[in-house]
Amino acid sequence: MIAEVIIQSNVKNLNRVFDYKVPAEYEDNAIELIGARVLVPFGRMKSLEEGFVVNIKEHTEYEVKEIAKVEEKYLNKEKIDLARWMAKRYFCNVSECLKLMLPPGTTSKVIQNRVKEKSINFVSLIKDEDEIEFDIEIKKLKSEKQIRTLRFLLENGDALVSDIEIFADSSRAVVNTLCKNGYVEIIPKKIERNPFEGKNIERTEKLKLNKEQQEAYDTIADSMADMLFSEFLIFGVTGSGKTEIYLQLIEKTLKENKSSILLVPEISLTPQTVNRFIARFGKEKIAVLHSKLSVGERYDEWNKIKDGKAKIVIGARSAIFAPVSDLGIVIIDEEHDSSYKSEMTPRYDAKEIARYIARDNNIPLVLGSATPDLDTYYRAKNEEITLLKLNKRANESDLPEIEIIDLREELAKGNKSMISTRLYEEIEKNLKNKKQTILYLNRRGYSTFIMCRNCGYTAKCKNCDINLTYHSNTNKLKCHYCGREENVLTVCPECGSKQIRYFGTGTQKLEYEIKKLFPEASTIRMDVDTVSKKNSHEQILEKFKNENIDILIGTQMVVKGHHFPNVTLVGVIAADGSLNIDDFRANEKTFQILTQVAGRAGRGEDKGRVIIQTYNPDNFSIECAKKQDYELFYNTEIGMRKQLKYPPFCDIILIGFSSENEKEVEKIANQIHLYLKNRVIKENIGIILYKAIPSPIDKIKNKYRWRILIKCKFSDDIINLLNDTLEHFKTLKAKQTRVTIDLNPNNMMTL
Ligand code: ADP
Ligand code: ZN
Ligand code: ZN
Repeated sequence: MIAEVIIQSNVKNLNRVFDYKVPAEYEDNAIELIGARVLVPFGRMKSLEEGFVVNIKEHTEYEVKEIAKVEEKYLNKEKIDLARWMAKRYFCNVSECLKLMLPPGTTSKVIQNRVKEKSINFVSLIKDEDEIEFDIEIKKLKSEKQIRTLRFLLENGDALVSDIEIFADSSRAVVNTLCKNGYVEIIPKKIERNPFEGKNIERTEKLKLNKEQQEAYDTIADSMADMLFSEFLIFGVTGSGKTEIYLQLIEKTLKENKSSILLVPEISLTPQTVNRFIARFGKEKIAVLHSKLSVGERYDEWNKIKDGKAKIVIGARSAIFAPVSDLGIVIIDEEHDSSYKSEMTPRYDAKEIARYIARDNNIPLVLGSATPDLDTYYRAKNEEITLLKLNKRANESDLPEIEIIDLREELAKGNKSMISTRLYEEIEKNLKNKKQTILYLNRRGYSTFIMCRNCGYTAKCKNCDINLTYHSNTNKLKCHYCGREENVLTVCPECGSKQIRYFGTGTQKLEYEIKKLFPEASTIRMDVDTVSKKNSHEQILEKFKNENIDILIGTQMVVKGHHFPNVTLVGVIAADGSLNIDDFRANEKTFQILTQVAGRAGRGEDKGRVIIQTYNPDNFSIECAKKQDYELFYNTEIGMRKQLKYPPFCDIILIGFSSENEKEVEKIANQIHLYLKNRVIKENIGIILYKAIPSPIDKIKNKYRWRILIKCKFSDDIINLLNDTLEHFKTLKAKQTRVTIDLNPNNMMTL
């Protein structure tokens, strides 16, 4: 018998099957090998290569070698079909898609062995704090990275090298040097395997659904009984009881001895969310998958699913690939969230994958949101999706009152601070009444650009074509794209003038201003700079809640899904940030963020107040957010999308080119454009093809970037055209240029 094997590789030329002889001992049951991981001799390579058996057949026309070793079987026919579908749709290798479906750690043999032993190597300090600080003082320790690593260990205790790499921005080489110089040692340790161990959570019983909830539940439950694929959108304001419906649908699924997958945005995958499910079903039945778990933890959770012990899977985007058997329902909460679309190869959209899987299994797909994705709502209007509306908050609390403040008028009145008079009054009121406030600003750092008043020079990152942001805690200028840090400027490098000014505002500066305006208030800040350690995001929120901190200041992270009964005021410092981005979704994003952030206010007994500060009070997305009128927003926006041919009327394809060689990337981009143009004309393909141009941010991490934009209705013909284009790209033999194709990218700026 012959096995068709896909080699694990991201090299485009290897994206096909290779034939191998099935070893004699597997001959009788060769069909069982489909999905198995194998080691095979390959080309002139001395070591064996990893691959996956994707098919078994009787004969081959080639002279073939034999499979050297058969390893575990993780995959099955369905997963292989899915990977093949994905590879075509998202323009990548089948093996790159298969990787997503393997247990964590399996792609690296070393990690896998470690995981099996259930112990893992930790980096541990040998010297104590005084010794280390002394060595720093006498300059025996000079390297920034070494110092950072040691301080990280001092603060956090023993850590994995991978954690050190990420959180201390250090490297394995640095750890090795520290080991050699007697600062740290490597010790194997058993790792904490159950992230929710030791937690005793009180069980909850299901609530009696209100009328709207019951109708939504019944509609979905009926469709489960029919055993046919269908898609639902539960469109309900925050707090309208969507989660309670999910809980009861999952309960029903569990009773039928089937599995459920619930996807939530990475950021809301907090113990707070997970605990609600544990409280209902007990922790044994639930597996949680997300990126903050250690490899070992994820490996265990994966196996709990694979062995059928956990029938409820809760996780971020990639949990859609969990190895469930007998799937009964897929639920995607906050379906509008952009984290469901991957920005890395494979650039898949978890919603599309969920749809594929639900269709394949003849089960319902349930989407939930307070601000549905425009595309989803459009499909609901066109009856491709069944719309289920929840109009009221489940606990009858009123929606907050929203007030818009025109910052131009504030400025005219001579108020140059970030806080308008009205917001100031309301914060003061909240402080007096011991109520909590959330202030939202979507910029981190202190000042967001640095300019010479004399010649107009602005400080930009040398690797990326992007403004540097001033961070006051480190007193450094930082690039938010590549992380590069530079010393603060006092003299202009262009003209030598000392007229350097810092403009723009970030969360650090906001916190500073708040402390100045309200010295008696306690504040806590949440942004990428304060959230770094494992669980830290959660810790900040817990602290805010439990210690009744007066004011939480933060970026996007504060917007999502938390429930703080004592928060009665939400201030949006500048609603314009998301409007000024060069993206056709700017209005949609603004509306979503404002609605979500407003939803944080007044979730308890007291009515919430929201103050939105803006320079564009007339913008319709801000007006609609004020009125909390999704329909009005939708009707206005959809008209514009139609006119300008944007999704959902059209798909957007971005072909991105990047290279360290400025000349080459331009040349290749133009050659690809020419190829596409000829094909489109010759075959009369109905697409709008734009010229090759430099990307809006034309350099990131020292790579020059060009792009080609296409608008079309995505179809098999287009898939073929683009896959042919990738073949053509290979013939151009570019030395340094890489190409990526993204279907409906999240972010029009960064590809
Ligand atoms: P959403 O997911 O739409 O934000 P939740 O399901 O979290 O809404 O519900 C918001 C609050 O209302 C929660 O505290 C929840 O326990 C409560 N709740 C939900 N459904 C009911 C119900 N049928 N009866 C009473 N309280 C409910
Ligand atoms: Zn200057
Ligand atoms: Zn940079």
